[in-house]
Amino acid sequence: MASEQNYGFETLQVRGGYDPAKHNYASTVPIYQTASFNIGDTDRLKRLKAKEEQGFFYTRSGNPTLDILEKRITALEGGTSALAVASGMAAVAYSLLNVAEGGGEIVAVHSLYAGSYNLLEHTLPKLGINVNWVEDPYDIEQFREAITEDTKTIFVETIGNPLINVIDIGRIAEVAHERGIPLIVDNTFASPYLLKPFDFGADIVVYSSTKTLGGHGSTLGGLIVENGKFNWNNGKFPNFTIDDYKLQNKKVVDEFPNSAFTAKIRLHYLSDFGAVLSPFDAFLIIQGLETLSVRVEREVKNTEAIVEFLSQHPQVSWISYPTISNDKNKELAKKYFHKGAGSILSFGFKGEQESINKFLSSLKVFSFLVNVGDSKSLAVQPSETTHSSLSDENKIKAGVFKEAIRLSIGLENIEDLIEDLKQAFKKSLE
Ligand SMILES: *Cc1c(COP(=O)(O)O)cnc(C)c1O
Repeated sequence: MASEQNYGFETLQVRGGYDPAKHNYASTVPIYQTASFNIGDTDRLKRLKAKEEQGFFYTRSGNPTLDILEKRITALEGGTSALAVASGMAAVAYSLLNVAEGGGEIVAVHSLYAGSYNLLEHTLPKLGINVNWVEDPYDIEQFREAITEDTKTIFVETIGNPLINVIDIGRIAEVAHERGIPLIVDNTFASPYLLKPFDFGADIVVYSSTKTLGGHGSTLGGLIVENGKFNWNNGKFPNFTIDDYKLQNKKVVDEFPNSAFTAKIRLHYLSDFGAVLSPFDAFLIIQGLETLSVRVEREVKNTEAIVEFLSQHPQVSWISYPTISNDKNKELAKKYFHKGAGSILSFGFKGEQESINKFLSSLKVFSFLVNVGDSKSLAVQPSETTHSSLSDENKIKAGVFKEAIRLSIGLENIEDLIEDLKQAFKKSLE
């Protein structure tokens, strides 16, 4: 597909990055379920090393099925390169290590996926990487003030979890670039169908493909995408410009001018820390991607109907979903989310914990479980599950309210979903 750039999103999600002629004309992307690849002979080894021929050695550093997934997300995102890893947390952790390694600092906001929060609050500090937290994600000046000489990146989620708040990534990217650092965004809740962060100045986009991208709740995976625009040569990122022993002492920035970020992770963090995605799981994520736009469109429609239902319900004290809020969230949703703000919302349950327990236990169509972005509708109380490891103080900062229920809306019949919520609300009063 030589002129892939010209195809629309819907075509790329089905066909991007895959040329059947190069794979025995297999219509479906084949699963290269192999740990290693034959080298053939020493002449071929020479050609591979000199990059005169593209090839694979060992699946931890590259595999054709993963390569197609990487090319497909690159096309969907409008980037230059991508890297697939074993989970969303591997994508977040490797991306942050890749820039902040060796005592760098990170600027971040509190409203984050709990795994990312714990990584930033507890694990990275043990490795000498500290975080300057921004208290008010809407106050751009606070981002500017949080950056020090040692700051290597700003990290945010395009839609924060569990607050479901929209982050003004365009203005935050400007602040990052003023100081010569990249903006890394986690775009998991939005997916590239609803938001393309590169269009607003983000430099690196990470995903948990476990969620909306894979879409079926079957497979853990993570993706890191770059657009090749950030200047790693500005003196702040010495490991991109040293003589790299993995490259016969050439520099990552010279060898990979458009893909330095993912190349460095592949060469060092993926190779040495090893969270490689399995070829079979890459295949499942590719299958999920084929229907991304169709699923998301329907899920947004269902979500908007559920939001409408909840907004009329006497047992609901508040709803957090960007396009209906009356605050900055709504303004930001207008700027960033023209096709809807995704399939995840939170609402305040009016009542005691006992009623919340009854509500969750009474759901029949909704699954009571910790995940989002599934074709099945899901419900959870974040304070008791996903975010229960946060201290009480940090729960408040992260917006993890005790009475909040988070819903992730799937593809079921909308009337069945609404009826299910209705009957569970009723049971919670019994
Ligand atoms: C789930 C999730 C992650 C972590 O992904 P895993 O695939 O579970 O490791 C990171 N960020 C966000 C926003 C998520 O929802």
